[in-house]
Amino acid sequence: MAGGNVRVVCRFRPQNRVEKECGGKICVNFDDKNTVRVQSEHGTRKFVMDRMFNMTTPQGEVYSYAAKPVIKDVMDGYNGTIFAYGQTGAGKTHTMEGPSLRSSTDKGVIPRIIDEIFEYIEQADPSIVFTVKLSYVEIYCEKIRDLLNPSSVNLPVRESRRAGVYIEGVTEKYVSSQEETFQVMEEGNLSRATACTRMNAASSRSHSLFILTIGQKNQEGSTKSGKLYLVDLAGSEKISKTHATGSTLDEAKTINLSLTVLGQVINALTDRKKKHIPYRDSKLTRVLQESLGGNAKTTLIICCSCSSYNCEETVSTLRFGERAKQIKNKAKVNQELSVAELKVMLADAKKEIAQLKKY
Ligand code: ADP
Ligand code: MG
Repeated sequence: MAGGNVRVVCRFRPQNRVEKECGGKICVNFDDKNTVRVQSEHGTRKFVMDRMFNMTTPQGEVYSYAAKPVIKDVMDGYNGTIFAYGQTGAGKTHTMEGPSLRSSTDKGVIPRIIDEIFEYIEQADPSIVFTVKLSYVEIYCEKIRDLLNPSSVNLPVRESRRAGVYIEGVTEKYVSSQEETFQVMEEGNLSRATACTRMNAASSRSHSLFILTIGQKNQEGSTKSGKLYLVDLAGSEKISKTHATGSTLDEAKTINLSLTVLGQVINALTDRKKKHIPYRDSKLTRVLQESLGGNAKTTLIICCSCSSYNCEETVSTLRFGERAKQIKNKAKVNQELSVAELKVMLADAKKEIAQLKKY
């Protein structure tokens, strides 16, 4: 079993036009690769994370540090999760997807992961049979919608000892190349955009979860599988910023429920006195249960603006990251050995027992 804390990295985007027009100034200073100081009206606050990426860090560098190591983990049979957290407009989708899935320089974490997974499979021992499955869902107002089957609008979450926590009935598409995977992703993005227009909602209010499962079977028949969650969370800004009132306020509360519970789960996990972790209080935390304090290697990418105009949100986003950094996970390899391999292990164990008996 591999213990380890949730890895937290932070990425700042440059000031945009609105921030500049509102008189925003750059309010962050980087001491080193791990440390940022944020200047606000309330003074200067220092935050330390596993890595800080400044406003000029290219997509490739964010990928190499924050995402690339997870590929080996997933190929070794661990579960992995990468999720992006931050206020709307802070750069979550830019980081996870990028402006285009196929751009050679600007593509984000997800297309780079897909490229590398298929390169890995191409170079692997040809006697190993790989399968790559993908699901794509969004959580909006506490309902899980299947982006690859838009008629499934409220999928349940279940748990079994063998499969862990899973979304029941979700579409799982088998893919065999980068291009095929991108096409499925684009299909999902399209159905997400259409649903948003129909519901008059912005995609920034829903969480998107892109789920890749990579299975391997060797010549002896033993199997290994790793599940990778790539999550672009809803904007973390407070409800008051959306100027919601009345029924929209109720809706806003439901929209934010998953994020509120995510914060509560993180607090409970990092408070040694708390025994109960409220995973079941929201769909997002239920689906990501294993990623938070469980069987997964998890990286959180905190996205922030560098502008004084959004300073308050930036500080609260960084505080969230600071707490998440304390979570400890217990990842293990998901594998089932073949009968032949089990027999060898049993024979070895018997030999060892016989040796021990001699003493
Ligand atoms: P979010 O998904 O968090 O709401 P986006 O990723 O859509 O935010 O980013 C908002 C805008 O800022 C986009 O136009 C995006 O291209 C730009 N942007 C985000 N991050 C960066 C960055 N690191 N460098 C340059 N532009 C960025
Ligand atoms: Mg976005």
